[in-house]
Amino acid sequence: MPVPEPGYGVENLPYGIVRFGDGSPRAAVRVGDYAIDLDALGLQSVPDGTFAQPSLNAFIALGRGAWTEVREELVRFIEEGLHAEHATAVGHVESLLPIEVGDYVDFYASIEHASNVGRMFRPDAEPLLPNWKHLPVGYHGRAGTVVVSGTPIRRPMGQRPPAEPGGAPTFGPEPRLDIELELGFVCGDGPALGTPIDANDAREHLFGCVLVNDWSARAIQRWEYVPLGPFLGKSFATSISPWIVPFDALEPYLVDGPEQDPAPLDYLRVDAPSALDLPLEVILNDTVVSRTNASHLYWNAAQMLAHMTVNGATVRAGDLFASGTISGPDRGSLGSLLELSWGGRDTIETTRGERTFLEDGDTVVLRGGHGLVSMGEVSGTVVSAEG
Ligand code: MN
Repeated sequence: MPVPEPGYGVENLPYGIVRFGDGSPRAAVRVGDYAIDLDALGLQSVPDGTFAQPSLNAFIALGRGAWTEVREELVRFIEEGLHAEHATAVGHVESLLPIEVGDYVDFYASIEHASNVGRMFRPDAEPLLPNWKHLPVGYHGRAGTVVVSGTPIRRPMGQRPPAEPGGAPTFGPEPRLDIELELGFVCGDGPALGTPIDANDAREHLFGCVLVNDWSARAIQRWEYVPLGPFLGKSFATSISPWIVPFDALEPYLVDGPEQDPAPLDYLRVDAPSALDLPLEVILNDTVVSRTNASHLYWNAAQMLAHMTVNGATVRAGDLFASGTISGPDRGSLGSLLELSWGGRDTIETTRGERTFLEDGDTVVLRGGHGLVSMGEVSGTVVSAEG
């Protein structure tokens, strides 16, 4: 096999579900520009058939011990030289949704994003609501509409806010279709119902990481969100990157996050560095419109998982939770068009013309990672509401 591409050597080894030729979907690991059929390798560390399945859930359910053993076995295979018959160029396989998503939660963990949204929507009040620095704010999203990168995104129809206060809403295509640049975390099984996950044990239950585009319908969202939060403005589609980067591969990029002041309650305290230094980019119609880093996030994944289970709620293998929009402190480091256009006031230059929000035919690509560990990309093209 040729030398692996940067970002996909033994340091990474991300997992996906692919279709080789016209075969049935099965698990694969990406090495360089190749997808390796995991079932065909006959790994010793998992039961037979674990990888001959249309999702990674069975593998993820085996738990951290198996994740580590498989990774070690794969490194040995690669160092001994993989056989060409197990490898197919990634350009010649179809990448599918890698997990059957159980529950899906989206957080709101970026202080810059939450402050920007607060400034736009509540200009006369404190940008952050009183709870924000005490808990990672989140909501339960729609697991069944999580789709893999490349899936076309139909502009949603829905109720738009009245033009005048006290007026009637209108119905039609969403005029302010937006993106949200986020990181997603794929969970393994947690403890039994009623038992929280300690923030310092979160790593035991975090299988891997994907890029997430939380497509957002801002007009629908604005009209519907009070008092119960996001609903149809978010549930029409959430795209994820096809290759799940194992949390083990991200270990070298764990860093201290921003200082948390006031100090969070005990159950949200984490001893080890738990923020992720991951450079990220937003590309709209082939134009890089934002560059940021996941290390800006105020709340980290360990804290999100601890908070999500502190009431005794369970997590199951294949559950997904996302960070919320990742924005940095500068104008060029914002993770949504809502912020980049400052509520539609400013335009954003792209190769298809100036934009505030998305037009039909626009393509958004989110990319991330380091030279040794690529997060890959998640892309999507907007199709008209009429289809
Ligand atoms: Mn979001």
